[in-house]
Amino acid sequence: MIERTWVVGPFQCNCRLIACDRTGEAALVDPGDDAAKILSKLEGVKTSSGAPLRVKYLLHTHGHLDHVGATRSVREARPENPSILLHRGDEPLYLNLIEQGRLFGLSYQQPLAVDSYFEDEQVLHIGGIRLSVLHTPGHSPGSVCLRMHEDSDSGTRESLFSGDTLFQGSVGRTDLWGADQDQMFRSIRNRILTLDGDTRVCPGHGPETSVGIEKRQNPFLS
Ligand SMILES: [Zn+2]
Ligand SMILES: [Zn+2]
Repeated sequence: MIERTWVVGPFQCNCRLIACDRTGEAALVDPGDDAAKILSKLEGVKTSSGAPLRVKYLLHTHGHLDHVGATRSVREARPENPSILLHRGDEPLYLNLIEQGRLFGLSYQQPLAVDSYFEDEQVLHIGGIRLSVLHTPGHSPGSVCLRMHEDSDSGTRESLFSGDTLFQGSVGRTDLWGADQDQMFRSIRNRILTLDGDTRVCPGHGPETSVGIEKRQNPFLS
């Protein structure tokens, strides 16, 4: 298992690389900005046998500009033609990237079409890594969290890529397009806080945390 986090763009989005060390298959979660940085960092990552990675998927926790801004450039630059995945509920936002950027004074190219839509409970395979999709609407209609299961000799480690739904000590904003605060809190309580307390949480911005820590200490969840 290979994992990297690269902080990209003015909103400091955590772009994550996950890759199977055995097969070289890889996915990027939230290639939000700084395509040149992502592409050059990617070139530098090899499997332990020295093989280059093959990026199979570009996965998006949601369609906000800071999570999808480099998708087109990364896809066009990578020879494997990685598939663009997003929940259908955020497709209108994603396709409106130019308009989203205008509100923040940022310019973007027209996004490429989505190749495939996330379904709740869908499982994706990246070599030996399993990722399952949790639809967690609220921060945006099509927000998802991606649950990663890594099997090793010492058991299965669980991680959650929580996008902008849950942060260390905070939760997502709900003042943007199509957001719904009650729905977001329902998603957090019913889909995230029900996971094992040891589950590592990797948010779309800021430091990592765990389900258990947020359950006990997050002031927005008490
Ligand atoms: Zn967001
Ligand atoms: Zn964000």
